[in-house]
Amino acid sequence: MSLRFTCLCGKVSVELHGAPAARANCHCSTCRSFYGTSLLSATAWEAAAVRVEDGVALTFQHPGKQVAKTFCGVCGDILFGTNRLGMRVVPNALVARATDGQLDAALAPTMHLFYRQRVVDVSDDLPKYLDGWDGPTYAP
Ligand SMILES: [Zn+2]
Ligand SMILES: [Zn+2]
Repeated sequence: MSLRFTCLCGKVSVELHGAPAARANCHCSTCRSFYGTSLLSATAWEAAAVRVEDGVALTFQHPGKQVAKTFCGVCGDILFGTNRLGMRVVPNALVARATDGQLDAALAPTMHLFYRQRVVDVSDDLPKYLDGWDGPTYAP
């Protein structure tokens, strides 16, 4: 599979190759703060699977955490983040641009992570891990 999306101004394109390593809704406070959202719905990819075309992409390293985000130097639109494992984290809202605004079902989240830290409750049938996916799940 190969997907391509652009930033809002169109100066930067991002190509995704293959399949993501993980698909999740992350409720952790770092994602919420860093991406400016109440939860981050995203796919995580090996770094080599995410290629940036054109030359105006800039990267900001978080001053206190091992995360970075890469964004368009013209319009400021985020292109992807990089987590502490070096994986590229691509928000689903961006990936959906590659397919006319509808996220491919093969890329839909399969779980909730760090549900313990949530600021919004979600009602769905996906597993809700209180922390990482090797730990216990939320039981209402
Ligand atoms: Zn742009
Ligand atoms: Zn997170």
